[in-house]
Amino acid sequence: MSPAANRIPPFTGHPVFAELPETVFESMSRLARQHGAINLGQGFPDGQGPDDVRAAAARALESVSNQYPPMMGLPSLRSAIAAHYRHHQGLDLDPEREVMVTSGATEALAGALMALVRPGDEVVLFEPMYDAYLPLVRRAGGVPRFVSLKPPHFRIEEAALADAFSERTRIVLLNNPLNPSATVFGPDDLALLAQFCRRFDAVAVCDEVWEHVIFDGRRHRPLMALPGMRERTVKIGSAGKIFSLTGWKVGFVMAPEPLMRVLSRAHQFLTFTTPPNLQEAVAYGLAKDDAYFKDMRAELARSRDRLSAGLSGIGFTVLPSAGTYFLTVDIAGLAPDDVVFCERIVAEHGVAAIPVSAFYEGGSVTNLVRFCFAKTDATLDAAVERLAGLFRAT
Ligand code: PMP
Ligand code: GLN
Repeated sequence: MSPAANRIPPFTGHPVFAELPETVFESMSRLARQHGAINLGQGFPDGQGPDDVRAAAARALESVSNQYPPMMGLPSLRSAIAAHYRHHQGLDLDPEREVMVTSGATEALAGALMALVRPGDEVVLFEPMYDAYLPLVRRAGGVPRFVSLKPPHFRIEEAALADAFSERTRIVLLNNPLNPSATVFGPDDLALLAQFCRRFDAVAVCDEVWEHVIFDGRRHRPLMALPGMRERTVKIGSAGKIFSLTGWKVGFVMAPEPLMRVLSRAHQFLTFTTPPNLQEAVAYGLAKDDAYFKDMRAELARSRDRLSAGLSGIGFTVLPSAGTYFLTVDIAGLAPDDVVFCERIVAEHGVAAIPVSAFYEGGSVTNLVRFCFAKTDATLDAAVERLAGLFRAT
């Protein structure tokens, strides 16, 4: 063979992924390990999740088949999902036609965008947006149209929707409750969005993975339940958040049958299925009584209050957190921007956090930093103690 035939041609892959940096969650967790820092960056709880749910998974590993389960998910889990959302959110879902199990919400999102976005379709995205959304929209050939939500309230405003929606709008991708700003959209925000979806005949893809992690007596309202939205909404959930077991990667998708048909075609070639013992355990867990959900929220709200009080006590301006595992602080005046701030605190003070600019295209907001409070009191207190040094130094 000639040397030329041996040469590997330059190949950089699809530009969307070739030009993408590593996700901020992985980078910050690596930095946390390198510096032996307390990791309040990537969102995962300190704990092990509910013992009974883990025990159900362990039992199922021995007792149910470990071969491919049905592509749409175990019938027991699909029924449990429908029953769960009927009980908690008043939704009426047909488990056989309108519910599908995925390998995490991440797969559900990727599949939904692959399945629903046609090249050139416009996709409305709300900033701050979860970091997976934009690359997935672009890879699917979608054209992003941004609605920038403004701190500190991050509300949806009519004028911003009017700017973003057009005759070419095919999809709107909403995350409610919203990571990272910890906003829970209320009836007015949702009614406004539903009105635009109906007017422009758009499909709403609703990432509601944080639906159970909401505080201070709030109730989660699925966009799917609003008038005229049932037939045009894809709702996505995740057992990882419901049971504080983020490594499990069991997600669910709920959609009307015509949309589910095409969503299932993407799922069958993405992962096809999800480990059966975890599915069985999630089916068990979704039927847990209301006290579990109430206690989980109360416990997390207590941790939120502890971290919030600790951070305000040492001098931070803390923004409100209505849901999720997160709260954000305003770092204006403490560093030139959020990235510099996060690099500094992980290296010099031993605490990892997430710069919120990672959730904005073009980094239009650079003064907010996200901390995860789903941790033990000791972890939160130690982090606050370390960060106190920051204010002593300035
Ligand atoms: N969407 C949002 C808004 C998230 O915060 C996360 C993870 N925390 C996911 C999707 C991914 O969920 P999963 O781990 O089930 O893939
Ligand atoms: N969703 C988690 C967060 O916001 C991270 C998930 C991930 O690391 N991909 O922290």
